[in-house]
Amino acid sequence: MPETHGRRRAALRSLLRERDLDALLVVDLRNVRYLTGFTGSNAALLVAAGDEPGAETRTRFCTDGRYLTQSAQQLPDLERLVDRPCPPALLREAAGQDLGRTGFESHRVTVDELDSFTEVAAGVELVRAPGLVEQLRMVKDDAEIEALRMACAAADRALADLIEHGGLAAGRTEREVARDLESRMLDHGAAGPSFETIVAAGAHSAVPHHRPTDAVLHAGDLVKLDFGALVDGYHSDMTRTFVLGAPADWQRELYDLVATAQAAGRAALRVDAEVSDVDAAARDVVERAGRGEEFLHGLGHGVGLEIHEAPALAKTGEGRLAAGMAVTVEPGVYLSGRGGVRIEDTLVVRDGDPELLTLTTKQLVVV
Ligand code: ZN
Ligand code: ZN
Repeated sequence: MPETHGRRRAALRSLLRERDLDALLVVDLRNVRYLTGFTGSNAALLVAAGDEPGAETRTRFCTDGRYLTQSAQQLPDLERLVDRPCPPALLREAAGQDLGRTGFESHRVTVDELDSFTEVAAGVELVRAPGLVEQLRMVKDDAEIEALRMACAAADRALADLIEHGGLAAGRTEREVARDLESRMLDHGAAGPSFETIVAAGAHSAVPHHRPTDAVLHAGDLVKLDFGALVDGYHSDMTRTFVLGAPADWQRELYDLVATAQAAGRAALRVDAEVSDVDAAARDVVERAGRGEEFLHGLGHGVGLEIHEAPALAKTGEGRLAAGMAVTVEPGVYLSGRGGVRIEDTLVVRDGDPELLTLTTKQLVVV
């Protein structure tokens, strides 16, 4: 979709103008992908600032010889350099184009790379410019939301299959359940899991990011599954917690508390809401129940080309929500040594109610 990527580059050119930059050297591969559609493993991009019609013709993409054919197919609309390493080649290009203040992604460039930049960038003023493309990426366009929708659907279907086929059962190990769930996501169109699948049974469920082990699931366990699918480079993210067999009173109470907090967090997803207020909406529910100390992390995070991206829905988060942001809402309460519950959805902020992308039920499911 060359038009989509062209629109994104135009938005970046305007942002560069606002920041008083003449160009930006983009070295982060996800940012290169966002701006061009290129999916290879080595590339960089130079985007010149400005809204005038000629500005786009000064954009230069660089990759190496392995990606000649792929890049011609994926970005027929851009002028390409074939060189290695790409960033110095593009900086020589910037010098040739008389681009003055050239920003670079200082959050991605190593100290050694920066030395190599200054050697070739005579006449170019290198300016630290972290996070500019990430700022644009916070608000998703329709193509991105469709990819997220497909990723979330693959995860929903995989979980439904797993349960229908008795895959979540006493006697299996955490690792077996994780592998089963991951292979079912592949069956439903995922290129892979969007991060290492978490299956945490019994007391392990009280560890927020437990890695699956050979521990066996037992009747009466809480079992927490946190997983996602990768589709077209976009990551889904969902957590559901189950009870194997009839829930004990404390398990049901814990579940209801987290479900109430999660609903409060979703209800607070409004255009212009402060991200710290969204966190507080859910956290207040947990604190009022005297469990604030056991809610061990932020409420949620942006999700897209990365599994964790801006904005952070956290106490310390800054900024406001905007329509088109894709975020998770995932409160958890963890009783050390006993068990924990987390419930997580991926949603898109909309004018009015947010759009829920992870559609698996949040009722307490007894399997
Ligand atoms: Zn998750
Ligand atoms: Zn998450």
